Formats: sequence, C-alpha cells, structure tokens
Amino acid sequence: MTEDLISPIPRVAPPREPPPAVSTMVTHIKQTWLLAQPYLPEISQSFYNMLFTLAPTARDVFPIGMQAAEGKHVRALGQLILLVDRPEDLAPYLRQLGRDHRKFGTVDQHYEAVGTALLAALKRHLGPAWTPEVERAWAEAYTIVARSMQEAAEADHHPPFWKATVAEHRRLNWDVALIRVEPESPIPYRAGQYVSVEVPQRPRLWRYLSPANAPRPDGSLEFHVRAVDGGWVSRSLVGHTQSGDVWRIGAPLGRLSVDRESGRDVLMVAGGTGLAPLRAILDDLAQWGQNPTVTLFYGGRTLEDLYDLEQLWTLAATNPWLRVCPVVEEVTGEPGVEHGTLADAVTRWGAWHDHDVLVAGSPDMIRATVSRMFAAGTPLHAIRYDPFGFD
Ligand SMILES: Cc1cc2nc3c(=O)[nH]c(=O)nc-3n(C[C@H](O)[C@H](O)[C@H](O)COP(=O)(O)OP(=O)(O)OC[C@H]3O[C@@H](n4cnc5c(N)ncnc54)[C@H](O)[C@@H]3O)c2cc1C
Repeated sequence: MTEDLISPIPRVAPPREPPPAVSTMVTHIKQTWLLAQPYLPEISQSFYNMLFTLAPTARDVFPIGMQAAEGKHVRALGQLILLVDRPEDLAPYLRQLGRDHRKFGTVDQHYEAVGTALLAALKRHLGPAWTPEVERAWAEAYTIVARSMQEAAEADHHPPFWKATVAEHRRLNWDVALIRVEPESPIPYRAGQYVSVEVPQRPRLWRYLSPANAPRPDGSLEFHVRAVDGGWVSRSLVGHTQSGDVWRIGAPLGRLSVDRESGRDVLMVAGGTGLAPLRAILDDLAQWGQNPTVTLFYGGRTLEDLYDLEQLWTLAATNPWLRVCPVVEEVTGEPGVEHGTLADAVTRWGAWHDHDVLVAGSPDMIRATVSRMFAAGTPLHAIRYDPFGFD
C-alpha cells in the first residue's frame, strides 16, 4: 500500500445513517484520529519500524521517501478507515485498490503486518486515550478495509500488472508530453478511469496517470503528462521517456463516466492534464451518433496551458453535442474565452441543474470547483470526481 492510499476518497453522496455499532466505532476512531494529528510524523516512524520488523518484505511495498517522512501513508490509511461508515462510497474504491495492489506482490502477511503496526504506533503515541474500546474500534475498521481489498485481489483473474512499451513521446507544450504505450495485452479499463504506472527511470515510484483515449482495438493508451515543479516522476516522464521503454501498469481505478441513457446533459470541468480522463470519455462518446449535450470547461493559467484546445475545437466542429469553453486566469483579448478560475467560470452560469457534473484536475482545483458549485446550488450527488494528486 503506497501512494495509492494517499488519495482521499471522493465524497459524492450524503452519508446514510450508519447502524449504532458502526456509529460508535466511527466516533471512537474520529476522536482518536483527531488527537493523533499533531504526532503523525512520529506515529509514521513507529509504524514503519514495526512494519519492517514484522514483515521485512513490506519494504518493497512501502518505499521510504518524502511521502513516508511526512506521514502520508499513515494519513491515507487513517482517511480510509474513517470512511467505514460510508460503505457505498468506500466498498467500490477498496475493491479497485485491492486489485491495484496486486502489482506490489502484496500478500496476506503484509495486510496483517500493516494493521498490527498501525495500531501499535497509534497506541504508543496516544497514551491513556487508547482504551480497549478504541483499540477494538480501530481493529474492526481496519479488518473491514483489509478484507475488502484482499477479497477483491483474490477474485481478480487479470495479471497483477501489464507491461507496456513506449511507442511515441512528443511535447504538446513546454511542460506537457503525450506518451503512447502499447501494452503486451489489452488493459480492461473504461474511458475515464486511471491507472498506476511505474517507469524504468524511476523504479518503485508508482504514479497515477489517466489514459486520454477510449479503449482501442490495438490496446494502445495515450497519456498526457505534465512536469510538476520538483516532481520526481513527472519531470522524468516528460524529459527522458524514450521509445522502447517498458512500463508497468496496474489495474484500472476510478469512477468518472457518462451515462448516455440517463437523459441528463453533462458538464465537464477540466484543469490542466485533468483533461485526460474527460478526453477519453469524449473519445468514447464520439463513436455514437447521438449523445447528451456535453459542455466542457477547459482551464489553465494562460491560453498556452490549454495544450489540447485546437483538437477539442476540431472535435466539437464534427460533434454538435459538444461545446468547448476555454477558461484562463490571465486576461486575454481572445473572443470566446472565459476569464478567472474554473470555479469562477462554471458558477457564473448558475447551478447546472439537470446536469451530471464531472470534475478532473489538481486537488486544489477539484476542491475549489466542487465547493463553489455546491454553494451555487449544484447538488453534491450530481458531482463526480476522482482523487487527483494528494494532500
Ligand atoms: C487519479 C489521478 C490521476 C492522475 N492523472 C494524471 C495524468 O493523467 N497526467 C498527469 O500528468 N498527472 C496525473 N496525476 C498526477 C500524478 O499521479 C503525479 O502525482 C504527478 O505527476 C506528480 O508526480 P511526481 O512524482 O512528479 O511528483 P512528486 O515527486 O510526487 O511530488 C513533487 C511535488 O509536486 C507536488 N505535486 C504532486 N502531484 C501534483 C499535482 N498533480 N499537481 C501539482 N503538484 C503536484 C507534490 O506535492 C510535491 O510538492 C494523477 C493523479 C491522480 C491521483
């Protein structure tokens, strides 16, 4: 379990009332989790010490790096566990995560060791707040999380990862590259999903990327990768990818999709390379004659950041169900370009009642857009997004 667990689970539906036993369990967990916050770096250190003593092979699953030092793995585990009273959101995600974790060679012993190490680390730093009831609550919740992941992993008959060879690498602008890979066998993903990727230049540093195309007969996948400042993997991907490089790609995750039969129109909001999963959905829709009306707000700081705008306009010219609305933060004289952030631009047009909304971009952009749309009257259950990056 590495950075996969770092992503917060998207909250899309109001929580149902949990049964009383689950509600007591969650209250215990929430209270102690709050107390643990100031000590997360120390708790994290204790967690790794215990984990690697119990299961030395877990070092391959948890490469120690900056994220570990900042306590992000422990934080991510905690965030997952906090959601045990929301099985309708958590269960599908855990199943995908369990399948994805097969790429690490994760075995039952790792799951057991992670649970033991997490509870021991919390106990060590929480002192008298760690009562037997609290311990039972954490143990039960962790068991629910681990069991869902293990069961999904066991039931999965696909390979734990696919090898894919880089066939094309070209710059789309100064900091974004398109990389096309050809997997050894087709990867069973849906347009809008994402996959984790490990590249030879950065062994063991898996990162999520979203295919920007719908599944093709030849199985090839295109990725749009932006080099982030100080980024270990993305800078290497944009700067040093070579044709012939062999990548490893994990099981698909995510739930961005369009229901063509729902009768509802669609609003898409894409920031930067957050366009990729939405582009894959558009690619999929373009295979059909009739579609719901799709309005795509595509935003960046400047017009140059909108690396795919020309192609999107071309797509819209031949697909009347698609409207593309560029949004830039810098003021330009360009006609047809909205100014401000994506959150500004989208909410300027109201609450988008009767629309299904898909949002993809950086964590900050998703947070800002979703909260502004909610404040403008868009119901949360109509908004879908996947975790993008981590905080
Ligand atoms: C569901 C999902 C789908 C994704 N799809 C894509 C995609 O299609 N194309 C793509 O280019 N990236 C995508 N990402 C982001 C990608 O997984 C990496 O997080 C990103 O490339 C940075 O990795 P890195 O190793 O270069 O940075 P790191 O070395 O891990 O981090 C370096 C610094 O960059 C910051 N950082 C990390 N991620 C981001 C980010 N997304 N935006 C801004 N700052 C960041 C970190 O906080 C840190 O300060 C996706 C992420 C998620 C969660």
